[in-house]
Amino acid sequence: MERKPLVAANWKMNKTVPESVDFVQEFLQLFAVPPEVEVVLAPPFTSLAPVAKALEGSPVGLAAQNMHWEEAGAYTGEISPVQLRDLGCRYVLLGHSERRHYFAEGDGEISQKVSAALREGLSPILCVGETLGEREYGKTLEVIERQIGSGTQEADLEDGTEMVLAYEPVWAIGTGKTARPEEAQEVHRFMRGMVASLFGGAVSAGMRVIYGGSVSPENTAEIMAMEDVDGVLVGGASLVPESFARIIKSAAGNPLDTDDDQGGQVGL
Ligand code: PEP
Repeated sequence: MERKPLVAANWKMNKTVPESVDFVQEFLQLFAVPPEVEVVLAPPFTSLAPVAKALEGSPVGLAAQNMHWEEAGAYTGEISPVQLRDLGCRYVLLGHSERRHYFAEGDGEISQKVSAALREGLSPILCVGETLGEREYGKTLEVIERQIGSGTQEADLEDGTEMVLAYEPVWAIGTGKTARPEEAQEVHRFMRGMVASLFGGAVSAGMRVIYGGSVSPENTAEIMAMEDVDGVLVGGASLVPESFARIIKSAAGNPLDTDDDQGGQVGL
């Protein structure tokens, strides 16, 4: 089954509303987003509505960085899947390592969020990944197995396109260290195999497994060349329109532009 590569930007707790809108305007002027890839921006909650408006008419989709699992109610400070749908979100990042580590989100809570997102018509991007210590102790696949198993235990999947898995080794996030392409491929293949055993071959063949962790314009092509890597989740390098655009071009299979090969596009 053909899986359309997904390139997702995770802005984390960055950018004010004017900065977010400026990014979108600059980014959309840089190039025509290639139809071979799906591109999604996950700005902070405060920027979702203005970014949705700025993206109108473009193929770029909107994602949230987190959500609560209930539709509505007495949950001060939380945001529900219904509210995210209302703003035009297509995706929601769930189980990001910063949520797991700084906010003590556990597997049970993440599982509730995954099933709530699916129920409300949002596609979860379920993030999983091992810490450096876990990798050094040879526990990588064990950790991934636990996180996917529990994260999807209440999920009801039909063909795999409703959900995305993101492999984000914790030691590679924001550190400038990237998993070697073969290391990523080994984990991605394991993840796809797990989805096959949990939900069947059709779901596994349709589900995109994307990589995150210090992705840059320079390393996107080699990571994307791996058979089971279906896209990238980009933190730091997605904050600047030019570098995010170069990552997208690279993920779409276009060679990296050099200064004298800009294909008629500004700054690419
Ligand atoms: C992330 O936080 O999802 C991420 C991949 O960050 P970075 O690209 O900065 O490592």
